[in-house]
Amino acid sequence: MKIRKISEHITKLEFWCLFKVSVWLVQASNGVYIIDTGMAFMSKHILREAEKLGEIKAILLTHGHSDHVGGVKNIIRERNIPVYAHAFDLDYMEGKAPFPRRKKAEALVPPNVVQPLPINENGELEAFGDLIPYHTPGHSPGHVVYYHAKDNVLLSGDLFTSKKGQLQQPMRMFTAYMDQAIASSRIVRELKPALVSITHSDDVKDAHMQIDEYMKQYAG
Ligand SMILES: [Zn+2]
Ligand SMILES: [Zn+2]
Repeated sequence: MKIRKISEHITKLEFWCLFKVSVWLVQASNGVYIIDTGMAFMSKHILREAEKLGEIKAILLTHGHSDHVGGVKNIIRERNIPVYAHAFDLDYMEGKAPFPRRKKAEALVPPNVVQPLPINENGELEAFGDLIPYHTPGHSPGHVVYYHAKDNVLLSGDLFTSKKGQLQQPMRMFTAYMDQAIASSRIVRELKPALVSITHSDDVKDAHMQIDEYMKQYAG
């Protein structure tokens, strides 16, 4: 495991199996948020590192794929904390239906453990401290990214991969609707984060400088 402090409030934990799998720990004034939980074997490391930083408030998931929710079961067995994901991915991760373009439904989390991300009176996803979730569908129907406004960092889950500092499209074989995923990347143009942090790849600085090119290159 590699521990990278990527900004004032955010630590990225990187693990390797067949490919890189990362999660993030975000320090808020009232405690620590765990963003994604990787695979089951990672959970004890995540817990240990999170608790060095403070009391764990909640787990926030970018989406319901197994390499992002795999640690949920272990972590909630150890700690009584709420878990949130976008409502659109709940049935898939609970195994009630297969993810789009997959054949088999698979129960990746116990039923009724993951709650839908709350929505405010304006119909937007509610912030958790300085972290604002944005719905970025395509890779999965309920994919979200988390924007830390103070640090100007976007925790982008599987919205992208990257190579040599360049944004690349998410992994094709795991992406439900590629065109939609490419369209969702406009969030980078809107927020202009200084850093886009990516689950399976190296992070990309000033990604807004290349987002128009990216969207043109991969447009369907
Ligand atoms: Zn995924
Ligand atoms: Zn993934």
